[in-house]
Amino acid sequence: MDGLSNIGVIKDILTRHGFTFSKTLGQNFLVNPSVCPRIAEMGNARSGFGVIEIGTGIGVLTKELAERADKVVAVEIDGRLLPVLAETLAGYDNIKIVNDDVMNVDLHRLIAEEFAGLEVAVCANLPYYITSPIIMMLLEQRLPVKTVTVMVQKEAGVRLCAPLGTRDAGAVTVAVNYYSEPELLFNVSRGSFMPSPNVDSCVVRFNIRDRTPEGVEDEKFFFRTVKAAFSQRRKTLCNSAASGLGMPKDRVLEAIRAAGLAENIRPEQLTMEQFISLANELGRLSG
Ligand code: SAM
Repeated sequence: MDGLSNIGVIKDILTRHGFTFSKTLGQNFLVNPSVCPRIAEMGNARSGFGVIEIGTGIGVLTKELAERADKVVAVEIDGRLLPVLAETLAGYDNIKIVNDDVMNVDLHRLIAEEFAGLEVAVCANLPYYITSPIIMMLLEQRLPVKTVTVMVQKEAGVRLCAPLGTRDAGAVTVAVNYYSEPELLFNVSRGSFMPSPNVDSCVVRFNIRDRTPEGVEDEKFFFRTVKAAFSQRRKTLCNSAASGLGMPKDRVLEAIRAAGLAENIRPEQLTMEQFISLANELGRLSG
């Protein structure tokens, strides 16, 4: 269907289907026609690619993805949108809608079954109530995908894409950098959505690494260390890590020194390599 990003067309479709927005499901639909083509183009929707979309809404982004990629599989939790999508996406034979919670979908299996012989990318205007869990689920599963390109709240995007070692970095920044090279692509104003949220948004792309960083002796403990390090943001690394890991402060200090770090360093000042050294030293002392 043409004109799908046109606010008049969208209102007409939603009224005809008696659709009401669910705040709980993070339903803020895009009504700015310039945004979806940019997400699709920058998100690897092109020949030779299969694309997984999360959260179709009425299909504005789905349509742009289907026009560029070989195939689109879109996961949408809200069954009330199925009749709407049957109308808006009629005529596209390369789209499959999966009516489910994306957190319950076996994405490894989906990729194997739906995208044989294709490269794979993920694109989405994410529901804000579950942004980080979805991003971490996509990265931690080590899916065979090239890129994950998603719209998130602006503040979340700034944190996700902050260079490590700088003030805006947090535990989630270290985690996404472990699996990918994050990149902030462009900002989107709150007026681009219906209903309009209270915050602006941005589109970020995670370029998935072929290999995760080397030298991590115990991956589970590495992520525990990162979480503990940022558990009390205003404290020094030593205090925060000691309370987060339940370890005596003098032992944590020993590990900090052994990793070659200053005793009063703050968690946001560490690089990936320094987090790896710290976790390895702490692991040796606690194990
Ligand atoms: N892509 C559309 C657009 O840009 O207009 C809709 C984006 S809206 C921000 C988020 C969409 O995700 C909604 O359609 C919502 O129903 C869906 N959604 C929310 N939680 C979900 C979940 N756990 N799994 C799959 N879809 C979900």
